[in-house]
Amino acid sequence: MEGQGSVAVTVRKMNLTPKAIIHQKFGPKACYTVEEVQEPTQTECPGLCIPQKGPSLYRCRLELPDVLIVTDTFKKKKEAEQSAAEMALKKLGIHPATDNLTAMDLCDALVQRLKYLFSEEFLSSSHPLTGHLRGASRRAGDLCGSVPSSVFATFDTKLSNICKSLNPKVDSNPFLALPIITSAATRLSSSVLVSESRLSLRRLSPYPPEVFYSSSVQQSDSSERISVDAIYIPSSLDEHVRQVTLHLSSSGYYMDVIAQKLGVENGDRISLSRTLGKASSETRLYFAAPGYHLLEVSSDPGAVKDNPLEGSLNARASYFCGQVVHGDAIMASFGYTWRSKELFHENLTLQLYYRLLVSTFPGGTYKLSREAVLAAELPSRFTTKAYWRGSFPKEVLSTFCRLHRLSEPAFSVISLPLPENCLSRVHKKVKLKDTFTSEMECLNERPTIATGETDSMESGSTFRCEIKIYSKRQDLLMECSPTDLYKKQSDSVHNASLKVLSWLTAYFNNFGIPLEQLNSYGENLGIQLYPEIFFREFVLYPHVGDNSIGRNAEQKLLESKCADMLYSLSEHGVFSLRVEGCDSGAYPSNGSLLCVSYSVVLATEGKDMKELLEQKDEFEFEMGTGAVVSSLEAVVTQLSVGQSALFNTRLPPEYFVLAAGTDSGRILSFMSSHNCYLQYSVSLLHVTEPPEERMEQALFSPPLSKQRVEYAVQHIRNSSAASLVDFGCGSGSLLDSLLDYPVSLETIVGVDISRKSLSRAAKILHSKLAANTDIAVKSAILYDGSITVHDPRLRGFDIATCLEVIEHMEEEDASLFGDVVLSYFRPKILIVSTPNYEYNVILQKSAGSQEEDSDEKVHSQTCKFRNFDHKFEWTRQQFSEWACQLAEKHNYNVEFGGVGGTDGVEPGFASQIAVFKSKETRLVEEGASGDGASETGMDSELRYNVIWEWKKSSDEQ
Ligand code: SAH
Ligand code: MG
Repeated sequence: MEGQGSVAVTVRKMNLTPKAIIHQKFGPKACYTVEEVQEPTQTECPGLCIPQKGPSLYRCRLELPDVLIVTDTFKKKKEAEQSAAEMALKKLGIHPATDNLTAMDLCDALVQRLKYLFSEEFLSSSHPLTGHLRGASRRAGDLCGSVPSSVFATFDTKLSNICKSLNPKVDSNPFLALPIITSAATRLSSSVLVSESRLSLRRLSPYPPEVFYSSSVQQSDSSERISVDAIYIPSSLDEHVRQVTLHLSSSGYYMDVIAQKLGVENGDRISLSRTLGKASSETRLYFAAPGYHLLEVSSDPGAVKDNPLEGSLNARASYFCGQVVHGDAIMASFGYTWRSKELFHENLTLQLYYRLLVSTFPGGTYKLSREAVLAAELPSRFTTKAYWRGSFPKEVLSTFCRLHRLSEPAFSVISLPLPENCLSRVHKKVKLKDTFTSEMECLNERPTIATGETDSMESGSTFRCEIKIYSKRQDLLMECSPTDLYKKQSDSVHNASLKVLSWLTAYFNNFGIPLEQLNSYGENLGIQLYPEIFFREFVLYPHVGDNSIGRNAEQKLLESKCADMLYSLSEHGVFSLRVEGCDSGAYPSNGSLLCVSYSVVLATEGKDMKELLEQKDEFEFEMGTGAVVSSLEAVVTQLSVGQSALFNTRLPPEYFVLAAGTDSGRILSFMSSHNCYLQYSVSLLHVTEPPEERMEQALFSPPLSKQRVEYAVQHIRNSSAASLVDFGCGSGSLLDSLLDYPVSLETIVGVDISRKSLSRAAKILHSKLAANTDIAVKSAILYDGSITVHDPRLRGFDIATCLEVIEHMEEEDASLFGDVVLSYFRPKILIVSTPNYEYNVILQKSAGSQEEDSDEKVHSQTCKFRNFDHKFEWTRQQFSEWACQLAEKHNYNVEFGGVGGTDGVEPGFASQIAVFKSKETRLVEEGASGDGASETGMDSELRYNVIWEWKKSSDEQ
């Protein structure tokens, strides 16, 4: 057979999955059952009895006639199934790697598959292709019953995989599948007829009516007509993309309708691209196969032109699907599905087209995730998870790679031990995973670092993340190895992802940029580019982007380099700014979370015509990170809370405008006939100050939290305390840090109501205690419980701490805690710290507010706390009243101190601290060692739950 030998030229190993091989051998006799298992991921922290919500895992059971397989657990169902199949193959002694399929085998497989696709049995299945077989029977005249070969190659995965194995170029040029299918079909001459054009196939004998008109298929009224909106993408870049309507009738075949729209004689000549957009989408590009003559020379597939930039290439269409598309193309959403034999169809709008286009830009997915194409911008820095809105950088990068048919980005996190106050020393690289992988989850589960909520973690390691971007063929395009160190793995990953994305943005915004400039920009970001591979992958991009964005690209590059630039409004393209509302004095500062409402309209010079493009009642973003378009940020930073502004800017690239507004027709006619600009109106609704933790770290050296620990250590030393309980221990930062100091403590206990924080604390303490055998501590316990509630196990400790906790409770609970701790728990020493409200002025000033610090301003400001979770913040006076009353009531002495700031200098310490000392030491000791708890009778009930307990093993003591 001529076809057989000819296609052998490019044969390569067919990558059949284990499951596919099992299917080939056993068909429906292979029975897979997948069960979901919630495995607690406890291994790193023995004794922790809060179930750690691991990701859902799957286990697969595969039953074959002679073999039963049960797999380990996997993160994905598919992985579990493949693993089961792989195990089964091993058991059965089948080696897929060595059982290489020859071109001959492949051609045989192709013929077999094709034969099956034309069988009666297949027609009664629910395979989407059966819809085409039925649809083709409604074609008129000679075409009746003929199904375009391209349809087989597109909708039957098995067939398409065989074609790709025979000629890998099929993947990027679907047309190349046609000669392969045709030559296979000629071997089935007794049952399948190849049409004269060689572009379609038909079953020779008609299907028996009982099969064809099986009851499961409804015969619809043949006069029914449906109109479906689709998008026409002309091959010429000078022509606009436009909307077209396809009129389908249930008495015809939809491929012919598309052909007619494209000016092609019939559906046989139509090729189909892969699907676009979401995974479940049926949106594809339909285009004319480039001509019969190519089929003639196709006996040598290598001879078929596959230079993507040649001739009538449709750059826009090819860019979308990553496949070779010649001539005009139609983007439409049609399909027969497994569920229904009725043709599924969906209207596509121009807006959808432009949104699809925007999603392929580096920051496009982010803009769309915020539903704010004209306001949101992928921030240039990742600060805290808490203040991030929209898709995370890592996800944006992954989506970008997927949309451009690159491999998943390879993230590798390097953990470096952190010596005290020294980040600059060179450390040995520690790879957490051998294989580069994008699965961060498994890294995140490691106990090496805490992700504090409001508290910071000083100890442990720091992290650096490297990213490599590979093509599908595993050629390295670029790598990013920034030197920045982060306390959290996820921060290092997101920041590195942002670097890659901002480099890509620079390239996308200005594809004409000289290579040296790209390289030097890359250098700043720690990016190494492999230009040949990179430009090969993005060869089509310059043809889809709007040239007008090239204009301000250089400026963009500059902007991203100097983040702290002065905001000059005109530099940001803002003109005719009008501010409304009176100055409330509450100005946002860098690092704050701003909430604005805004709308953007397309306005035309001289005319009153306006078109609303985008609007949001509440839109949050972190100031100073470039999270919104620069004009908007420049204006908002000049507003005080409650004020509004109206301003105009010049038009961004056309596709952003079209992706934002719904009435594309109107927008296009505005933009083509008038001078247009964008008019933003924005109101600053409220401002949340930067998180306490960030402020404390930025403004105090050593950070306030560390100073608090040192304060406690001093008291532990002076009192030679052997037992300590930390009330409201959170993620255990104090307990953890105490272990770094040589202290006399033997028993340490933490209590908190946040089980999430307690789990973190357990992991951190476990890793430290397990690693250091020379620590004096013999026992460590974490309890889940409220510190306003009694539990006898916490009575009579040498020292108790309660740092930055009371302000998280209502004031009456703070008083209740005071009573409970000093009357019931009765530690010898109690240290309580809480923010000094009076000090906030200094914090706010230093946080970057440009306000003058006149007293009036400060007092007119709405009451600002350091943390959104604070219920109150007391002045020195308020704190002292609370503490003195308590001390007196319960027979304690109290002294005041603090950390941050200087004693006696206004406005006092940043964190104010009260140290209570029991006046009746002896009594407490008796209470603790004797039967003190029982004397209060009912108060001996154990109300706290032990959630983690550690005891030094006796051989270590
Ligand atoms: N002491 C820690 C954490 C301070 S954050 C540090 O200095 O880093 C405040 C903590 O108080 C949170 O972890 C919160 O869960 C806890 N908390 C608030 N109300 C509580 C209550 N009634 N009982 C126990 N813990 C409480
Ligand atoms: Mg606090």
